[in-house]
Amino acid sequence: MAPKNLDTLKPATIAAQAGGLLDDATGGVVPSIHPATTFVRDEDYVPAVDGNVYSRSHAPNGRMVEGVLARLEGAADAMVFPSGMAAVAAVFRTLPAGATVLVQSQIYWGTTAWIRAFCTRRDITLIEVEAADTDAFTATCTAHKPALAWIETPSNPWLRIVDIAPCAEAVHANGGLLVADMTTATPVLTPALSFGADIVMHSATKGLNGHSDVLAGALAVADASSAVWQAIRSDRDMAGAVLGPFEAWLLLRGMRTLPLRVERMSSNAQKLAEYLSDHPAVETVLYPGLPTHKGHTLACAQMKGGFGPLLSFVVKGAAPAALGAVARLKLFHRATSLGGVESLVEHRHTIEPHTGIPEGLLRLSVGIEDAGDLADDLGQALGQ
Ligand SMILES: *Cc1c(COP(=O)(O)O)cnc(C)c1O
Repeated sequence: MAPKNLDTLKPATIAAQAGGLLDDATGGVVPSIHPATTFVRDEDYVPAVDGNVYSRSHAPNGRMVEGVLARLEGAADAMVFPSGMAAVAAVFRTLPAGATVLVQSQIYWGTTAWIRAFCTRRDITLIEVEAADTDAFTATCTAHKPALAWIETPSNPWLRIVDIAPCAEAVHANGGLLVADMTTATPVLTPALSFGADIVMHSATKGLNGHSDVLAGALAVADASSAVWQAIRSDRDMAGAVLGPFEAWLLLRGMRTLPLRVERMSSNAQKLAEYLSDHPAVETVLYPGLPTHKGHTLACAQMKGGFGPLLSFVVKGAAPAALGAVARLKLFHRATSLGGVESLVEHRHTIEPHTGIPEGLLRLSVGIEDAGDLADDLGQALGQ
């Protein structure tokens, strides 16, 4: 089934009004938190409201988030999970033992590490490929016919851009499904289903929530009747990877400003990328919004309204220089994660030294602060 057309309302409208949700009981313009774990049946023993029986399967606040996310993605359906990794695991757990999967190399390290261990345990053949190289990706699909292919664009922390449409075609031609981790771009910059991905995954902990105060994950699907989607839903209901009502409520609250935050984070990141490109202490800047970036032309076609909050740069002088600069930063918090309103910096080589990450690489998650203040902070830390 082809993906549904994107909603006729723009994302800013859908998000700001939480998809039009109100609190029916009071007329409040903000929906309520529903903490009940169990729901009444009527005299005929039929669930009295909306089919609700038990909150592992029927979570009103989770459903509110799912409804809004599905509209933002142009998806047929969405599901939320208690973390991004729980959403990753939900997809991979549908694979039968002995299956073959294709996973983009050098993506979010937590995903790679978990998938490697899972595939070994399940006797699943795992092939890792540089998906930003469309020819290599296509050839690998043709040779191995994976049941599932996993991409992440822009990738974290290398900022590689994957051309979703031809990758989807290559996977489909060989009978598989394409899943895209769109955490960095969010549906605001790239609604990946419209480019042919079958399922979109988000660490909602990042940009979707945007306030560094909720751990959550999400999936959105083009075809809700597919066997894989049904398997994911039934596994979530039975195995219980369910987002709690308070977290779902907070996530929905965070999502109301998503388009606004993404716009500001992207314009700030663009300014900082340009500033760092001209800085004598900086060797390279990896940001898809820069014309010098390898994936810039593709990013311009695939991303609308900006290039996201994530930006990496390599400091001249390797680890000592990079760690020295990080120590002097006053506004950027030295912390992992991304997509929050506050700017963060990470020395990735300290975290994943074995993945070939340059010693001098610093990854920024650019927040919504004043861009001039952020540039000044980088300037004093790097030495003007
Ligand atoms: C953080 C992250 C994840 C994992 O999500 P959690 O919410 O931390 O479990 C997966 N993919 C990407 C790209 C991420 O940044």
